[in-house]
Amino acid sequence: MTTALVPSPVRAGNRPAPRPPYQPLQVLGVPGEINLDYAASAPCARAAADAVAELLPWYASVHRGAGALSRRCTLAYEQARQTVGDFFSVRPDDHVIFTRNTTDALNLLAHALPADTKVVTFAGEHHANLLPWPAGTLRLPVPDSPNAAVRALAAALRELRRGTDASTPILVAVTGASNVTGECWPVAELTRVAHRHGARVVLDAAQLAPHAPVDLAALDVDYLAASGHKLYAPFGAGVLVGRADWLDAAPPYLAGGGATQYVGTATHDVRWTTGPGRHEAGTPNLLGAVALAAVCTALTTADRAALHVREQALLTRLRTGIEALPHVVELRTFGPTADRVGIVSFVVAGRDSADVAAILATEHRIGLRDGLFCAHPLARRLLAEAAARSGRRDLPPTALRASLGLGSTDEHVERLLTALAALA
Ligand code: PLP
Repeated sequence: MTTALVPSPVRAGNRPAPRPPYQPLQVLGVPGEINLDYAASAPCARAAADAVAELLPWYASVHRGAGALSRRCTLAYEQARQTVGDFFSVRPDDHVIFTRNTTDALNLLAHALPADTKVVTFAGEHHANLLPWPAGTLRLPVPDSPNAAVRALAAALRELRRGTDASTPILVAVTGASNVTGECWPVAELTRVAHRHGARVVLDAAQLAPHAPVDLAALDVDYLAASGHKLYAPFGAGVLVGRADWLDAAPPYLAGGGATQYVGTATHDVRWTTGPGRHEAGTPNLLGAVALAAVCTALTTADRAALHVREQALLTRLRTGIEALPHVVELRTFGPTADRVGIVSFVVAGRDSADVAAILATEHRIGLRDGLFCAHPLARRLLAEAAARSGRRDLPPTALRASLGLGSTDEHVERLLTALAALA
């Protein structure tokens, strides 16, 4: 008998309860725990969890097996590449290379720079966009407005071009949104200036991509790096996308299987492949790539304008609530009205930030981040600026950061503000 497969007749008055609509961007979490640490790692979205669960029974080698399972995994991996590329609106001849995360992606690009490339960046970057670059990288001071950033870059590139011939490659490395202040950087304007001076641009989209559509082609940036774990996918998959020429000309980031066309018996008799595989040696992170692609699809089909409005309302409430607390001081680079994503850093006067984070965690079940947020030069400068602005001498040497995302609610924000108020 196969009656289990036949739907039971539905009688009037005895209808099964309708299922709630599937919400791919609903995030997983633990009831009672308030997560305000999305900027570090966002919780996993259902789309990602479901994509992993669906593929797990098919788990098999990618690019290496002839069996049906293996072929399906290879197809899923390459479809994920296509989806992630589409999500960032890559140009037809750009490469989409899967990496472990943004740090890995930026290190890959640093490894692939043509000889003698000059790199220009700002001191306000995350360490991932400060430290991979070669010795001699020009680190511009943290500007105090988006316009000042554009002016500083123009002046620096003018000067740099005066001392180099026109064929010297220059790369400008900038963030889309600061992981300390949430403030958005003028990426399109910086890119226009860079291109006017024959320089390329890499965008660190680790914090911008979870909050706003990032269109590589419209921004005209040459490369973009992002992390799956900040985009509601699990840890372990990130991406570097961008222009193929430097990437195809560079030695492989990782040497090994998958990156080769031919290997002879002599030690250095190797012909490396071109394309993304050149830098993806070793068995790839299939589940990470597929999960990231699933979130990209869910975000592409979501009403991102509505998500933005909701996040900005929460952010405004959080910032005005903090502003109303005389013992709490916000950190900021560009002033109070700059465009920003859902990230706020602050200090509680007279309180050690690690102690405050511990109180919030243990007494209020609120998780956020304390420290200098892997952006030491910026965080130190902003702490000094906050002390000068507030006139307080009792600000601690490290800060706290609350960051919002898809699962954040009014209640989460109010609970944090109430807890901070109690620390007066
Ligand atoms: N860039 C920015 C702006 C970040 O906020 C982060 C992480 O916090 C990174 C880069 C590095 O990301 P990952 O740790 O995923 O490599």
